[in-house]
Amino acid sequence: MKISYYLFFFISINLFSQENYDLNYYFGDISNTFNPNIPKPSDFLLNQSEVGSSHVSHDRLVNYMYALAESSNRVSIQNRGTTFEGRPLILLTITSEKNQKNIDELRKNHLSFLNVIKNKFNFYNRPVVLYQGYSIHGNEPSGSNAALLYAYYLAASENDKLKEQLENSIILLDPAFNPDGLQRFANWVNANKSENLNPDSNDREFNENWPKGRTNHYWFDMNRDWLPVQLPESKARINTFHNWYPNVLTDHHEMGTNSTFFYQPGVPSRVNPLTPKKNQELTAKIGKYHERKLSENGSFFYSEEDYDDFYYGKGSTFPDINGGIGILFEQGSSRGHLQESINGNISFPFTIKNQLLTSISSLEASVDLKNELFDYQSNFFNSKKNKENEYIIVSDKIDKSKLYHFHEILRRQKIETKKLKENKVINGINFDKEHSFLIPKNQRNSKLLSAIVNNQTTFKDSLFYDVSAWSFLHSFNLEYSNIKINENLENFEFTKPTGSIISKSDYAYVFSWNDYYTPKALYKLLSNGVKVKVATDKFSINNFNFSYGSILIPVANQDRTSNEINKLIEQISKETGVNFYGFNSSSSDGIDLGSNDFKNINVPKIGLIVGNGINSYDAGEIWHLLDTRYNIPITKLDYNVLSKIDLNKYNTLIFVNGSYTNKNTTDKLKKWVSDGGNLIGFRNAIKWLSKNDFLKIEFIDNKPSPENIKFIDKSKFYGAQLTSGAIFNVE
Ligand SMILES: [Zn+2]
Repeated sequence: MKISYYLFFFISINLFSQENYDLNYYFGDISNTFNPNIPKPSDFLLNQSEVGSSHVSHDRLVNYMYALAESSNRVSIQNRGTTFEGRPLILLTITSEKNQKNIDELRKNHLSFLNVIKNKFNFYNRPVVLYQGYSIHGNEPSGSNAALLYAYYLAASENDKLKEQLENSIILLDPAFNPDGLQRFANWVNANKSENLNPDSNDREFNENWPKGRTNHYWFDMNRDWLPVQLPESKARINTFHNWYPNVLTDHHEMGTNSTFFYQPGVPSRVNPLTPKKNQELTAKIGKYHERKLSENGSFFYSEEDYDDFYYGKGSTFPDINGGIGILFEQGSSRGHLQESINGNISFPFTIKNQLLTSISSLEASVDLKNELFDYQSNFFNSKKNKENEYIIVSDKIDKSKLYHFHEILRRQKIETKKLKENKVINGINFDKEHSFLIPKNQRNSKLLSAIVNNQTTFKDSLFYDVSAWSFLHSFNLEYSNIKINENLENFEFTKPTGSIISKSDYAYVFSWNDYYTPKALYKLLSNGVKVKVATDKFSINNFNFSYGSILIPVANQDRTSNEINKLIEQISKETGVNFYGFNSSSSDGIDLGSNDFKNINVPKIGLIVGNGINSYDAGEIWHLLDTRYNIPITKLDYNVLSKIDLNKYNTLIFVNGSYTNKNTTDKLKKWVSDGGNLIGFRNAIKWLSKNDFLKIEFIDNKPSPENIKFIDKSKFYGAQLTSGAIFNVE
C-alpha cells in the first residue's frame, strides 16, 4: 500500500510539471521587468492558468485585449465589425504613449509619403508600420494564443530596447483573423483534452470533426480572400490595410505536426513576377532576425522551401503588391495540447513560443530596417508610371449586378474608376456608357490593379501550392479592352442596380434569366405563393427578345389580386435589379405565353449534402450563395442520415465533391429521382452520378471540367445558366 501511494504521488507531480508553463517559459529572464499594473493573460484564462494550458476561446481573448487597452497607455482598441456568428473583429493599435497621443497625425504623415517622391527633411523620421495577424485558419491556434503574450509584452514590458522600438513603430495587432473558426476549434480541442495529456495522434483530440476550424462560418478559406474581399472578416482586414499601408505584414499559420518551423522567403522560382526583387531581399534580411531568435531558443526551422509567394489573395503575398513586405510563418502543429511527432512530442506551449519569438523578431527587424522599408515603399509607388491617358474599359451589357459586384471589389481595394462619357466601339465590341466604366492605369494602386486583371500564362515553375491564375476580368466574364482617352473624366459612382417594371400589366409579366439576382427574384415570388412558369424555348413580344429559361408570371389565376402582384413585383425589382416586362396578350413570335412549352415551377425544397468525406469549401460556397445572396433556405443534410430520413420532404438535393459510397443510399436516391426528384451534382459528384447510372455522361478524359464533359441526354436542361437555374424544380 505504502509503495503504491508514493508511486502515485511521484507520477502526479511529474504530470503536473508537464503543464507548468509560466511567463518565464515564454520570456526567460525579461519576465521580471513587466509593469505589475498591466493584467496578465492568465488572469483571463480558464482557472487563471498560463497561456498554452488550454486553448483560448475568442470571448476570453477579446476580454483580455479590452483589459489591456484599458490599463495601458500604449494600447488602443477598436471593433471593426462582426463575423457571421456575431463575434467582434477587434484591432489593437500599439505604440509608445507619445505616439499614441498623436496617432491620427502619424497615420496621415505615413500615407502622405506614398504619393510623393522622397522628401529629404522628415522622410525617415517617423515610426515604421507593422500589421501583425494571427490564425486566419482557426485550427492553427498557436498564433492567436501567442497574440495574448505578444500583446502583454508590448503593453507591459519595461525593457528599454522595447520602449525604443515602440517609439519607432506602430503595431496593428489583429489577434484573431478568424474568430468563428478559432472558437469552433477551441471548443473541440478543449472538450477532448484529457487530464493526463496523451500524445497519441490517433486520439480524438487531434482529429477534429467536420467541418474543421480552418474555415469561417460558411466554411470559406479566408486566406484566399485578400484579393476578392467577399467576407466580413476580409473587409475589416483590407480596410485596416488601406488605412495604414503597413511596411510589414506578418501572417502566423501552422502546418503538419512532423514539420518544424517555416518562415518566408519561400521557393524562389514561385514568386509572382509582379513582385519586385527588392521585396524578396528585404524578406530574407528580416529572416535573419527570426533565424537568431529561433536558434537561441533551440527551435529548428527552414526557409526557401515548400511555400510559394504567388497568389495575391493570400495574407503573406497581398502586401507584396502593395508596397509592403508580407511574411508567412508556419509552425508544425501540436493541434491539441501535446502530440507525438517524428521529432518527439510537440507541446502546444512550444508552438506558441515560436510564434511569440517570431512576432518579436519581426518587430525588431522592422525597426532596424525601417529606412530601407520606407525607401522600398516609396520606390514601389513612384516607379514606372503608366501614361495618364491609358485606361481599361470594362462592360457587361446583360448582367448589371455582376458588373456592380466587380466594381465593388475595385472600390474595396481603393482602385479609382472613371465614367465613360459616350458609347465606344473598340475591336468590334460595343461599350455603351450605361453598362461600362473605365479604370485608369495611372493611379496609386496601379500595381494592385495589374494583379487583379493580370493574365499570367507562363510560369517559371510547374509546381504550385494552389492558386496560379485568377484574372477577375475572366472570372467575372466581362468584356474589356485597353483604351486611350485624352480628356479629363469624372469619377464613376456605381449605385447598387435596381430594376423596374417596364410597362405595368394586369395580364402577364416576363423576366429574363440573365441577372446574378434572378434566382433571388424567382424564389421571392414562389415563397409568396405566386404561380410562375419557365420558358423552354425562345420568343419575342413587342421587339423584346426572351431566351430559354425566361420566367412568366400570369397576373390572373393567382391567389392574390393583380394589385398585390404588382406591388410585390415592384418591390422585388427594386431589391434584385431585375426588370419585369408587362404584356397584355399571350401572342408572341415563338412560343405564345399560353403555350404548354411554359412549364410550372415548384417552390424548391433544397437539401445540401454535407458531413464527413464531403468537400466543405464547395458545400459552404453553395450554402453561402443561397442563404446570404439569394435568401433561399436550404436544409444541410448529413450524408449518413439520407438512408434514415424521408427524402420526399425535398424536391432538390445538391451533392458537391465528396465520397458517396453507401449502396443502400444510392438505391434510395435512384428511386427518389425516378419519382421526380431533382438531383444536382457539382464537380466530382458528376463522376459518382455517371458511375452509378443516374445519367449517361461520356468523359473525354478523366477530368470532369465543363469543357470535357459531353452530355448525351440534353432533354433535361433548361436555359443557359444551368448552375443557378437548376435549383428550381420544373414540373
Ligand atoms: Zn494556415
